[in-house]
Amino acid sequence: MGEFTAPKGTKDILPGDSPRWDRFFAAVEAVYKNYGYGRIDTPIFEKENLFARGIGDGTDIVNKEMYAFVDKGGRKIALRPEETAGVVRAYLEHDLGRSNPLVKVYYKGPMFRYERPQGGRQRQFWQVGVEALGSADPALDAEVIDCALESLGAAGLEDLTLHINSVGCPTCRPGYTKLLRAYVQAAPDKFCQTCLNRAETNPLRVFDCKNSGCAVALREAPLITAYLCTDCADHFASVLTALQFIGVAAEPNPRLVRGLDYYTKTAFEIKSTALGAQDAVAAGGRYDGLVEQLGGPPTPGIGFAVGVERVLLATETIEQPATRPDVYVATLGPKARRAGLAAARLLRRGGFAVAVDFSDKALKKQLNYADKAGAAFVLIVGDEELASGAYVVKNMGSGEQTALDPESLESWLRSQRSEGT
Ligand code: ATP
Ligand code: MG
Repeated sequence: MGEFTAPKGTKDILPGDSPRWDRFFAAVEAVYKNYGYGRIDTPIFEKENLFARGIGDGTDIVNKEMYAFVDKGGRKIALRPEETAGVVRAYLEHDLGRSNPLVKVYYKGPMFRYERPQGGRQRQFWQVGVEALGSADPALDAEVIDCALESLGAAGLEDLTLHINSVGCPTCRPGYTKLLRAYVQAAPDKFCQTCLNRAETNPLRVFDCKNSGCAVALREAPLITAYLCTDCADHFASVLTALQFIGVAAEPNPRLVRGLDYYTKTAFEIKSTALGAQDAVAAGGRYDGLVEQLGGPPTPGIGFAVGVERVLLATETIEQPATRPDVYVATLGPKARRAGLAAARLLRRGGFAVAVDFSDKALKKQLNYADKAGAAFVLIVGDEELASGAYVVKNMGSGEQTALDPESLESWLRSQRSEGT
């Protein structure tokens, strides 16, 4: 490897991989559109305090993982670690809620978090997701979750499980977190330092600890389900009923929490058994207080984000159709190359995928390249063909060769294509 490599935790998406990415986006975006979501694109950087205010000061994402810097104008900027805060900022800035009581948007793009890179965990990673702003109806929670599952199904994932919980609201959560904090602090020797810190700053997150000792110590911990206020308990019950009614299987998990402060009521995670330790392919939930927290009117909202790399890891074994050129243009000598280029240009305008050979190798070698690329036809242009005005087209499947004048090339190929289908 040379002096320059991609920064730690980032990955190039190479031309060999990008067809999978394209197919993924096409599949999930079609689902989001069917569910009524329109695409939104926001900047990949925002004012730093948007995330501090939106995601929460006490969260790992804001405290430890944010790519924050001061720009040349002295502004505090951060690369977005997630998209919900940016969407809500745009929702308020453009007053999207004014003409529409329920605003539904989807997004796709890279996110940035300074994390420890490992399989399925990067510092720059892609998310797609949706946000629905304007309704607190538990049936909407069911629709959003259904949409997430459908989109993952369309992307080729089969073995998915939905884990769901209610994380309460500002009425009931503080009472519960106080109990949880006291529970952890009552046995400081049984918990790791991270858990002890979290008990101070963000107690729910102790349930995210991967340490087996902490998990054992949490066995008898109070669970939020018993402490939800009536509003939250009713809402959660209605979400579960709605899911059951539409036929979506859910596994309630009272230890499921989210790393972002803004979640209220419904929190969920979708896991794939095709993955190892990093098995959550999507996560989301309700954030009924976020719009207000960012300076808007009280507006409930719910959404989810899908980790694109993780989905593509989980579907790696699914065979993908390769992209092949329809026509490979083999050219012999500079004059023929120009003529081949002109022919390729016309064919491409006619909708054919065309590769031109620039290797200047012998015809046999060029035919090898064409074969490797999986081309259906090879157009052979050499001095002889130029002199006679008849190009040779070789059908790579049958080996058959046909001499054609350049003008009739396109219509001939078209007729071959319709015969083939
Ligand atoms: P995890 O528990 O895996 O760290 P999270 O709780 O931080 O996830 P969210 O912030 O809700 O996850 O993001 C939603 C989804 O985005 C995750 O379920 C995961 O698929 C993906 N994701 C999150 N962080 C990363 C990362 N650093 N690299 C790759 N994908 C990620
Ligand atoms: Mg995380």
